[in-house]
Amino acid sequence: MRLRLLALYPEQMNIYADRGNILFLQRRCQWRNIGFDHAAAGPGEGFDPAAHDLVYIGGGQDRDQRLVADDMLRSKRDALAAGIDDAAVVLAVCGGYQLLGHSYQLGDERIPGLGLVDLETVREPGPRLIGNVAIEAELGNGPLRIAGFENHGGRTYLGDETQPLGRVIRGHGNNGRDGFEGVRRLNLFGTYLHGPLLPKNARLADRLIQLALARRAGAEPELAPLDDTLEASAHENARAAAMRG
Ligand code: GLN
Repeated sequence: MRLRLLALYPEQMNIYADRGNILFLQRRCQWRNIGFDHAAAGPGEGFDPAAHDLVYIGGGQDRDQRLVADDMLRSKRDALAAGIDDAAVVLAVCGGYQLLGHSYQLGDERIPGLGLVDLETVREPGPRLIGNVAIEAELGNGPLRIAGFENHGGRTYLGDETQPLGRVIRGHGNNGRDGFEGVRRLNLFGTYLHGPLLPKNARLADRLIQLALARRAGAEPELAPLDDTLEASAHENARAAAMRG
């Protein structure tokens, strides 16, 4: 088995060391003798949607999002859409998550999104939404607790038929109002949670690995258990920080 990962705009979209998510996926594959290919597509570069099982994009500041939005639409939208329809896993964090929707409205400016999920992001009066977050999700392997840290000015609203990634237990989530966090469509997952996210949520990381491998294996492979003492403690700490408020 081989997990073939593609990172989009790793130079531009990587705040809060979101790139650590990739390292974590790589290690968990390595520890289980699962092959791991790591490719990247930056500005102007297209990609073959059949050649990657997990596509990753991290968070970014407004300035970086402005820089990549048009380019992403031109050079990557169609390949990403084809990959999603063909069961590729997509993990998009914060700024990357916002860019998957219809648009990101910043005052008078409207940053175009890819329109791959029915959601949009706006700025509203009020402070940035910052703090520790705990959410509860269900990704087909039982209730899944996810914990992390959010820091976003944008407020994201999902379309009526759009499924969130999870429900907020503590923190702001998509917009601080409706109790939703992130988005899910097929194997596409968007979230505001940094951390980096995956080292604090090993069960989520494994679920993504499993879904990505299932794409070519035909069925979800069993993943060998690992010693997750440190990972469990990182998760419990992140969750406890969120529960303290
Ligand atoms: N620039 C976006 C916002 O502030 C996303 C920030 C992020 O990726 N943390 O809403």
